[in-house]
Amino acid sequence: MQLNFQGLRALVTGAGKGIGRGTAQALHAAGARVVAVTRTQADLVSLARECPGVEPVCVDLGDWEATERALGDVGAVDLLVNNAGVAIVQPFLSITKEIFDRSFHVNLRSVVQVSQIVAHGMVKRGVPGSIVNVSSIVAHTALPNVAVYSSTKGAMTMLTKVMAAELGPHKIRVNSVNPTVVMTNMGKQVLEDPELFKRLQERHPLGKFAELEDVVNSILFLLSDCSASTTGSGIMVDAGYLSS
Ligand code: NAP
Repeated sequence: MQLNFQGLRALVTGAGKGIGRGTAQALHAAGARVVAVTRTQADLVSLARECPGVEPVCVDLGDWEATERALGDVGAVDLLVNNAGVAIVQPFLSITKEIFDRSFHVNLRSVVQVSQIVAHGMVKRGVPGSIVNVSSIVAHTALPNVAVYSSTKGAMTMLTKVMAAELGPHKIRVNSVNPTVVMTNMGKQVLEDPELFKRLQERHPLGKFAELEDVVNSILFLLSDCSASTTGSGIMVDAGYLSS
Protein backbone atom coordinates (compact mmCIF):
# COMPACT_ATOMS: atom_id res chain seq x y z
CA MET A 1 0.00 0.00 0.00
CA GLN A 2 1.48 3.37 -1.04
CA LEU A 3 0.63 6.09 1.46
CA ASN A 4 2.34 9.41 1.98
CA PHE A 5 2.83 10.80 5.49
CA GLN A 6 5.27 13.54 4.46
CA GLY A 7 5.15 16.50 6.84
CA LEU A 8 3.50 14.54 9.65
CA ARG A 9 4.97 13.40 12.98
CA ALA A 10 3.95 9.97 14.26
CA LEU A 11 4.42 8.42 17.71
CA VAL A 12 4.50 4.62 17.94
CA THR A 13 4.59 2.81 21.29
CA GLY A 14 6.23 -0.59 21.59
CA ALA A 15 8.32 0.32 18.55
CA GLY A 16 11.24 -1.93 19.49
CA LYS A 17 9.93 -5.24 18.24
CA GLY A 18 7.12 -6.93 16.32
CA ILE A 19 4.11 -4.99 15.05
CA GLY A 20 5.27 -1.69 16.56
CA ARG A 21 8.69 -1.91 14.94
CA GLY A 22 7.11 -2.81 11.57
CA THR A 23 4.76 0.17 11.91
CA ALA A 24 7.58 2.57 12.79
CA GLN A 25 9.61 1.33 9.79
CA ALA A 26 6.63 1.66 7.42
CA LEU A 27 5.78 5.16 8.65
CA HIS A 28 9.41 6.22 8.25
CA ALA A 29 9.46 4.79 4.72
CA ALA A 30 6.26 6.72 3.92
CA GLY A 31 7.83 10.03 4.90
CA ALA A 32 6.64 10.56 8.49
CA ARG A 33 8.91 11.77 11.25
CA VAL A 34 8.69 8.98 13.82
CA VAL A 35 8.93 9.09 17.61
CA ALA A 36 9.70 5.50 18.64
CA VAL A 37 8.80 4.63 22.23
CA THR A 38 9.84 1.38 23.88
CA ARG A 39 11.49 -0.20 26.89
CA THR A 40 14.73 -1.73 25.56
CA GLN A 41 17.43 0.75 24.57
CA ALA A 42 19.20 -1.72 22.24
CA ASP A 43 16.04 -1.98 20.10
CA LEU A 44 15.97 1.81 19.73
CA VAL A 45 19.64 1.90 18.74
CA SER A 46 19.13 -0.68 15.97
CA LEU A 47 15.89 0.99 14.79
CA ALA A 48 17.56 4.40 14.59
CA ARG A 49 20.35 2.80 12.53
CA GLU A 50 17.83 1.31 10.09
CA CYS A 51 15.63 4.41 9.99
CA PRO A 52 17.80 7.53 10.30
CA GLY A 53 16.00 10.43 11.95
CA VAL A 54 13.76 8.32 14.17
CA GLU A 55 13.47 9.97 17.59
CA PRO A 56 14.00 7.33 20.30
CA VAL A 57 12.26 7.45 23.69
CA CYS A 58 13.15 4.71 26.18
CA VAL A 59 10.54 4.31 28.93
CA ASP A 60 8.45 1.69 30.70
CA LEU A 61 4.91 2.72 29.79
CA GLY A 62 3.61 0.80 32.80
CA ASP A 63 5.16 3.53 34.98
CA TRP A 64 2.87 6.61 34.92
CA GLU A 65 5.39 9.08 36.38
CA ALA A 66 8.25 7.92 34.14
CA THR A 67 5.95 8.16 31.10
CA GLU A 68 4.95 11.70 32.07
CA ARG A 69 8.64 12.65 32.35
CA ALA A 70 9.53 10.99 29.03
CA LEU A 71 6.57 12.14 26.92
CA GLY A 72 5.06 15.14 28.70
CA ASP A 73 6.97 17.52 26.42
CA VAL A 74 6.94 15.35 23.28
CA GLY A 75 5.67 18.24 21.16
CA ALA A 76 3.53 18.16 18.04
CA VAL A 77 2.23 14.71 17.10
CA ASP A 78 -0.27 14.13 14.25
CA LEU A 79 -0.51 10.33 14.30
CA LEU A 80 -0.45 7.99 17.29
CA VAL A 81 -0.20 4.21 17.38
CA ASN A 82 -0.86 2.73 20.84
CA ASN A 83 0.77 -0.64 20.24
CA ALA A 84 2.83 -1.56 23.32
CA GLY A 85 1.36 -4.50 25.14
CA VAL A 86 2.05 -7.56 27.25
CA ALA A 87 0.24 -10.90 27.05
CA ILE A 88 0.66 -12.87 30.25
CA VAL A 89 -0.77 -16.38 29.83
CA GLN A 90 -2.25 -17.62 33.10
CA PRO A 91 -5.22 -19.82 34.04
CA PHE A 92 -8.02 -17.77 35.56
CA LEU A 93 -7.59 -19.44 38.97
CA SER A 94 -3.91 -18.40 39.09
CA ILE A 95 -4.29 -14.71 38.28
CA THR A 96 -2.46 -12.51 40.78
CA LYS A 97 -2.75 -8.84 41.65
CA GLU A 98 0.67 -8.25 40.06
CA ILE A 99 -0.36 -9.83 36.73
CA PHE A 100 -3.64 -7.92 36.73
CA ASP A 101 -2.07 -4.54 37.54
CA ARG A 102 0.88 -4.92 35.17
CA SER A 103 -1.38 -5.95 32.28
CA PHE A 104 -3.85 -3.12 32.77
CA HIS A 105 -1.14 -0.51 33.35
CA VAL A 106 0.76 -1.35 30.16
CA ASN A 107 -2.10 -2.37 27.86
CA LEU A 108 -4.79 0.13 28.83
CA ARG A 109 -3.70 2.83 31.29
CA SER A 110 -0.76 3.85 29.12
CA VAL A 111 -3.15 4.19 26.16
CA VAL A 112 -5.19 6.69 28.16
CA GLN A 113 -2.10 8.56 29.31
CA VAL A 114 -0.24 8.76 25.99
CA SER A 115 -3.44 9.56 24.08
CA GLN A 116 -4.22 12.38 26.51
CA ILE A 117 -0.76 13.89 26.04
CA VAL A 118 -1.01 13.66 22.24
CA ALA A 119 -4.68 14.73 21.94
CA HIS A 120 -4.15 17.75 24.24
CA GLY A 121 -1.45 18.88 21.81
CA MET A 122 -3.67 18.36 18.76
CA VAL A 123 -6.55 20.30 20.31
CA LYS A 124 -4.22 23.12 21.38
CA ARG A 125 -2.75 23.37 17.87
CA GLY A 126 -6.20 23.07 16.27
CA VAL A 127 -5.05 20.31 13.92
CA PRO A 128 -6.74 17.03 12.95
CA GLY A 129 -5.23 13.73 14.01
CA SER A 130 -5.57 9.98 13.90
CA ILE A 131 -5.05 7.50 16.73
CA VAL A 132 -4.90 3.72 16.24
CA ASN A 133 -5.12 1.36 19.21
CA VAL A 134 -3.67 -2.10 18.63
CA SER A 135 -6.21 -4.48 20.10
CA SER A 136 -6.80 -8.19 19.35
CA ILE A 137 -9.46 -10.69 18.34
CA VAL A 138 -9.62 -11.60 22.05
CA ALA A 139 -11.53 -8.36 22.58
CA HIS A 140 -14.40 -10.21 20.90
CA THR A 141 -13.89 -13.92 21.51
CA ALA A 142 -12.96 -16.11 24.49
CA LEU A 143 -9.76 -18.15 24.42
CA PRO A 144 -8.54 -20.02 27.52
CA ASN A 145 -5.83 -18.71 29.87
CA VAL A 146 -5.90 -15.10 28.73
CA ALA A 147 -8.66 -13.65 30.93
CA VAL A 148 -6.69 -10.58 32.00
CA TYR A 149 -5.13 -9.91 28.59
CA SER A 150 -8.54 -10.28 26.92
CA SER A 151 -10.08 -7.94 29.48
CA THR A 152 -7.53 -5.23 28.67
CA LYS A 153 -8.41 -5.55 24.97
CA GLY A 154 -12.16 -5.72 25.64
CA ALA A 155 -11.88 -2.50 27.62
CA MET A 156 -9.88 -1.03 24.76
CA THR A 157 -12.91 -1.47 22.48
CA MET A 158 -15.00 0.88 24.61
CA LEU A 159 -12.08 3.23 25.27
CA THR A 160 -11.66 3.55 21.49
CA LYS A 161 -15.37 4.29 20.98
CA VAL A 162 -15.64 6.87 23.78
CA MET A 163 -12.41 8.59 22.71
CA ALA A 164 -13.79 8.72 19.17
CA ALA A 165 -17.05 10.26 20.43
CA GLU A 166 -15.27 12.92 22.53
CA LEU A 167 -12.43 13.74 20.16
CA GLY A 168 -14.47 13.64 16.92
CA PRO A 169 -15.55 17.29 17.22
CA HIS A 170 -11.82 18.16 17.26
CA LYS A 171 -11.34 16.18 14.00
CA ILE A 172 -9.33 13.53 15.82
CA ARG A 173 -10.24 10.00 14.70
CA VAL A 174 -9.73 6.97 16.95
CA ASN A 175 -9.88 3.37 15.72
CA SER A 176 -8.47 -0.04 16.52
CA VAL A 177 -6.96 -2.95 14.64
CA ASN A 178 -7.80 -6.39 16.00
CA PRO A 179 -5.32 -8.99 14.78
CA THR A 180 -5.47 -12.72 15.27
CA VAL A 181 -2.15 -14.41 16.11
CA VAL A 182 0.92 -12.81 14.52
CA MET A 183 4.21 -14.72 14.80
CA THR A 184 6.10 -12.05 16.72
CA ASN A 185 7.85 -12.80 20.02
CA MET A 186 4.49 -12.39 21.71
CA GLY A 187 2.71 -14.71 19.28
CA LYS A 188 5.40 -17.38 19.66
CA GLN A 189 5.26 -17.17 23.44
CA VAL A 190 1.46 -17.44 23.59
CA LEU A 191 1.36 -20.33 21.10
CA GLU A 192 4.41 -22.38 22.07
CA ASP A 193 2.33 -25.59 22.21
CA PRO A 194 2.48 -27.03 18.62
CA GLU A 195 -0.82 -28.87 19.09
CA LEU A 196 -2.63 -25.68 20.08
CA PHE A 197 -0.90 -23.82 17.22
CA LYS A 198 -2.24 -26.34 14.67
CA ARG A 199 -5.74 -26.54 16.15
CA LEU A 200 -6.14 -22.78 16.29
CA GLN A 201 -4.73 -22.22 12.80
CA GLU A 202 -7.18 -24.73 11.36
CA ARG A 203 -10.10 -22.81 12.87
CA HIS A 204 -9.25 -19.79 10.69
CA PRO A 205 -11.23 -19.86 7.40
CA LEU A 206 -8.12 -18.70 5.50
CA GLY A 207 -6.14 -21.52 7.15
CA LYS A 208 -3.49 -19.14 8.44
CA PHE A 209 -2.72 -16.50 11.05
CA ALA A 210 -2.11 -12.82 10.22
CA GLU A 211 1.13 -11.62 8.65
CA LEU A 212 2.82 -8.71 10.37
CA GLU A 213 2.59 -6.61 7.15
CA ASP A 214 -1.18 -7.18 7.02
CA VAL A 215 -1.53 -5.64 10.46
CA VAL A 216 0.83 -2.76 9.62
CA ASN A 217 -1.11 -2.03 6.40
CA SER A 218 -4.38 -1.81 8.32
CA ILE A 219 -2.77 0.52 10.88
CA LEU A 220 -1.44 2.78 8.11
CA PHE A 221 -4.84 2.80 6.38
CA LEU A 222 -6.51 3.95 9.62
CA LEU A 223 -3.84 6.60 10.19
CA SER A 224 -4.26 7.96 6.69
CA ASP A 225 -6.89 10.15 5.04
CA CYS A 226 -7.98 7.04 3.08
CA SER A 227 -10.11 6.31 6.16
CA ALA A 228 -11.20 9.93 6.72
CA SER A 229 -14.82 8.94 7.49
CA THR A 230 -13.97 6.08 9.87
CA THR A 231 -13.84 6.57 13.63
CA GLY A 232 -14.77 4.54 16.71
CA SER A 233 -14.35 1.44 14.61
CA GLY A 234 -12.10 -1.60 14.37
CA ILE A 235 -10.52 -3.54 11.52
CA MET A 236 -10.44 -7.30 12.15
CA VAL A 237 -7.17 -8.66 10.78
CA ASP A 238 -8.35 -12.13 11.71
CA ALA A 239 -8.15 -14.41 8.65
CA GLY A 240 -11.91 -14.82 9.11
CA TYR A 241 -11.71 -16.23 12.66
CA LEU A 242 -14.47 -14.09 14.17
CA SER A 243 -16.93 -14.67 11.34
CA SER A 244 -16.65 -18.46 11.35
P1 NAP B 1 6.12 -8.01 20.84
O1 NAP B 1 6.77 -8.60 19.67
O2 NAP B 1 6.28 -8.64 22.18
O3 NAP B 1 6.54 -6.47 20.91
C1 NAP B 1 5.99 -5.64 21.90
C2 NAP B 1 6.77 -4.34 21.95
O4 NAP B 1 6.17 -3.53 22.98
C3 NAP B 1 8.23 -4.56 22.36
O5 NAP B 1 9.05 -3.66 21.70
C4 NAP B 1 8.18 -4.29 23.86
O6 NAP B 1 9.41 -3.88 24.40
C5 NAP B 1 7.18 -3.14 23.90
N1 NAP B 1 6.65 -3.01 25.26
C6 NAP B 1 6.05 -3.98 26.01
N2 NAP B 1 5.79 -3.51 27.22
C7 NAP B 1 6.22 -2.23 27.26
C8 NAP B 1 6.26 -1.23 28.25
N3 NAP B 1 5.82 -1.45 29.49
N4 NAP B 1 6.77 -0.02 27.93
C9 NAP B 1 7.27 0.22 26.71
N5 NAP B 1 7.28 -0.69 25.73
C10 NAP B 1 6.77 -1.90 26.01
O7 NAP B 1 4.53 -7.95 20.63
P2 NAP B 1 3.65 -7.79 19.31
O8 NAP B 1 3.16 -9.12 18.93
O9 NAP B 1 4.32 -6.93 18.32
O10 NAP B 1 2.40 -7.02 19.95
C11 NAP B 1 2.13 -5.67 19.70
C12 NAP B 1 0.67 -5.39 20.00
O11 NAP B 1 -0.15 -6.24 19.20
C13 NAP B 1 0.27 -5.67 21.45
O12 NAP B 1 -0.61 -4.67 21.91
C14 NAP B 1 -0.46 -7.00 21.37
O13 NAP B 1 -1.41 -7.14 22.39
C15 NAP B 1 -1.10 -6.89 20.00
N6 NAP B 1 -1.44 -8.19 19.40
C16 NAP B 1 -0.46 -9.13 19.17
C17 NAP B 1 -0.81 -10.35 18.61
C18 NAP B 1 0.21 -11.43 18.34
O14 NAP B 1 -0.19 -12.59 18.16
N7 NAP B 1 1.48 -11.13 18.28
C19 NAP B 1 -2.15 -10.62 18.31
C20 NAP B 1 -3.11 -9.65 18.56
C21 NAP B 1 -2.73 -8.44 19.10
P3 NAP B 1 10.32 -4.94 25.26
O15 NAP B 1 10.49 -6.15 24.40
O16 NAP B 1 11.56 -4.19 25.48
O17 NAP B 1 9.53 -5.23 26.50
